Amino acid sequence: TQSTQYKHEHLLSEKGKSRSFTHFYRSFPLPDNFKAHPKPLELVGGVPNFQIFPVESLKVGLRSKPFPNGYDTDAQVNAATANAAPSKDALSFDVLVDASEVNKVAEKDHHEEIDIKTGLQYSNTPGMDPLLKFTKDFTKEVIHPGYEDWNTILTLGGANGAYKAFEAVFNEGDVLLAQEFTFTPVVQSAKDIGFDIVSVPMDFQPTTKGGKAELTYADHLSKLLDNWATEQPGKPKPKAFYVIPDGQNPLGFSESLEHKKKVLELAEKHDFLIIEDEPYAYLNFQPVTEEPNFQLTTKEFIEALGDSYISLDTTGRVIRLESFSKVYAPGVRTGFIVGHKRVIELITEYTMVSTRNPSGLSQIVLNNTISALGGLQGYLGWIINVRNEYLKRKNALVLALQHSESVKKGWAYVNDAECGMFVTFVVNTGDAESKHEYMMNEFRLATAQTGVLTVSGGNLSISEEAKKERANFVRISLASAPDLKTLEEAAKRLSDAVVLLHKDDK
Ligand code: PMP
Ligand code: PLP
Repeated sequence: TQSTQYKHEHLLSEKGKSRSFTHFYRSFPLPDNFKAHPKPLELVGGVPNFQIFPVESLKVGLRSKPFPNGYDTDAQVNAATANAAPSKDALSFDVLVDASEVNKVAEKDHHEEIDIKTGLQYSNTPGMDPLLKFTKDFTKEVIHPGYEDWNTILTLGGANGAYKAFEAVFNEGDVLLAQEFTFTPVVQSAKDIGFDIVSVPMDFQPTTKGGKAELTYADHLSKLLDNWATEQPGKPKPKAFYVIPDGQNPLGFSESLEHKKKVLELAEKHDFLIIEDEPYAYLNFQPVTEEPNFQLTTKEFIEALGDSYISLDTTGRVIRLESFSKVYAPGVRTGFIVGHKRVIELITEYTMVSTRNPSGLSQIVLNNTISALGGLQGYLGWIINVRNEYLKRKNALVLALQHSESVKKGWAYVNDAECGMFVTFVVNTGDAESKHEYMMNEFRLATAQTGVLTVSGGNLSISEEAKKERANFVRISLASAPDLKTLEEAAKRLSDAVVLLHKDDK
């Protein structure tokens, strides 16, 4: 019945639509007026009794904030404090075997805990109740889709979410559009499911002086779609567009609202879905030219995130991929998908025959952290702290690169990342296109000599043309360096590598 309500049913995969999972233990129909026992004994599922679970208690300690001791010190000090006793104001919580009494608390914003008896048991495929409810509260409060009939389901992280979204959409031979620079593991999903990827060229303008950068591709997309038959002869029109709108990986830009509107209009005109992958959206920065605000309220933080594709969507055309990896921890292998309830229905059916729900231990730890922090508002407070740390890192790195010799001489420039985990450092290869690949190879060799490892732009591209003509940059991660000094030293080494390329210049 839902299929008739979903406007984009024709864009869903045949395989996805054909599944219908039925439990072998569903109840059998009784004749009319049959007097069944009101309270039958349930001896149904192969559901182990929780008293055989070996775990009887769990205690989790929480940091008061990321880097509680700061990291403006040197790496050695940090290594020493990493295992120091927890700070006095740090939180901790116990996971109970049975939290039903605790969960009865009638406080308005009480976030339910998952206990051991429930968390280590078989559970609902879309997610355990409190955590699934959290994804819905988060969606309402922070993401606000532009229509009513949306739903959510937990995934095993963003990458798994992407695979599941693709599985719900693509038949063999169908076409996915993706940005020419993108999170390339989508290519592996394409090989696995059998769909084709067509790359969308991008324009990106540098901001050597720290002003607002621009990432645009709507005009290229429009041209490609209008001339599809000649540009991509023999290929069916695309069914979906995979996009990383905020904190683009690898470029670090965010799309403007006007740009998102243009792309959504194209999706309507040419009838395709948009799959927005937003693991970085909450690491939302200010430019280096602005005084950083480390005191954002949750309201200010949410407002600064701006509108997403799904918030502009009124018909269920957008599927949004969320991940706890970048703001909580990748090892919990948990994320969620927001989409039209029909799309979530297909993804739920696929989840039942593939991964099932994320690990109960992960759901316990994640959910009860949220609970200990005080629910959604407390969790947003944690995300703001994470964002603040990345902002410090971003500013330190961008400023160090801007003041480096190579940038001052005009031999390279740095993009002031708007959001996310990556800063791009662009090597000026001059006008001679023939020199481009040669220069980038020389640059990589030079960085091996000065001692800094980054990712080549070309390694994060799905387009041969982009690799040849527009991949004169490296992606620098802000994430794993122990401190700001390390990032500043890395900036110097990157710059020195460019200087080596110019050693014969006068
Ligand atoms: N195989 C058989 C034969 C089973 O009976 C069950 C559980 N009822 C499973 C697999 C599912 O096991 P798991 O919880 O490891 O997915
Ligand atoms: N999507 C993008 C754009 C990413 O950059 C990453 C991680 O690098 C992922 C998805 C995978 O994230 P997860 O750990 O949630 O699977």
